[in-house]
Amino acid sequence: MAPHLTRRAFLQVTAASSALIATSCAATSCTALRIEESERARIPDLARPHDLAGSLQAWSETTLTLQSPSRSNTWPLSTDLAIYAPTSQLIGRADLTAGIEIGVWLDAQNRQITSLQILPPFAGSHDFPDSVQQPAPTGETREFGPLTLITRAGWGATWPNLQAQAEHGLFDPVTNPEGWLMYRGALTDVFKTIVVHHSALPLADGPQPIQRAHLGLKGYADIGYHFLIDGLGDLYEGRTLRARGAHTGGHNTGTVGVVLLGNFNVVEPFTRAWQTLRDLSVYLRDTYHITHIAGHRDFQPEETECPGARLERRLPALAAELKMKFGIEGYVVPKWVKRNRRLVHRER
Ligand SMILES: [Zn+2]
Repeated sequence: MAPHLTRRAFLQVTAASSALIATSCAATSCTALRIEESERARIPDLARPHDLAGSLQAWSETTLTLQSPSRSNTWPLSTDLAIYAPTSQLIGRADLTAGIEIGVWLDAQNRQITSLQILPPFAGSHDFPDSVQQPAPTGETREFGPLTLITRAGWGATWPNLQAQAEHGLFDPVTNPEGWLMYRGALTDVFKTIVVHHSALPLADGPQPIQRAHLGLKGYADIGYHFLIDGLGDLYEGRTLRARGAHTGGHNTGTVGVVLLGNFNVVEPFTRAWQTLRDLSVYLRDTYHITHIAGHRDFQPEETECPGARLERRLPALAAELKMKFGIEGYVVPKWVKRNRRLVHRER
């Protein structure tokens, strides 16, 4: 069950402060969470999809992630941050370094912290180009079977650039087999495999930065994945399913690319993200007759660790639970590639 989209629980602390994470609580009775810090912090811009909105009491999310802004360096290294339970009992303390993230798990009433996880800084550049202009997110959602999908307008996607250097124009089976391919006919005849990825980026680097990276750095025509799932389990619309993705080199035709935000070489997949992956997989299986689930590195073991060891190792059990097959055997080599074997490794 996808969470409601008005509930955001990614909080970015941009400077130090004391007793302030519960600042959005409207009522004085809200004492669920207190962050004690030496300087000042603020609730970030609420219009961004990954930021926090609403009062703590109104949330039914159970995950709250705080992130220091390593990009702006307004949070000094080794800042001491303490998190207190409602009773003011100290339940966790960490020396923070830039890029670190803290997962706070609350009880169902959002009144009690049940656990705290300090996440190491995720590796990976997030110095994304700002040459790609994106519209402001509208927050729009639509139903996608039983799921709620944050649409491209919802997260502020820009249009695909069909002249992008890495996809260089429209697909042609002879002259441009790597081009932008729109599938014709029924998608039930197209898709066979869900390929799972991780972003290997900080959690706050969601669809917009990833799209900027894919367009501005990699030269893709659009964000490469078909779906994105954030740490709270919210589901985002990526590249249209009608278009071939750009996520698994040599195996993009007929595969649905799904990325979970985070680095799962470092931490376990987040519960809600995992649930959304499961629900999405069920829906894709039933709607498009998809038979297989695989991790990115199952297709490209020499080239990537994606989706991270801690996510990859869970995929066989997920496939079994959903009565699907795990692995790459579902991949169907496209007809035009069969006719020209040298294209197998060039297909994007
Ligand atoms: Zn990947």
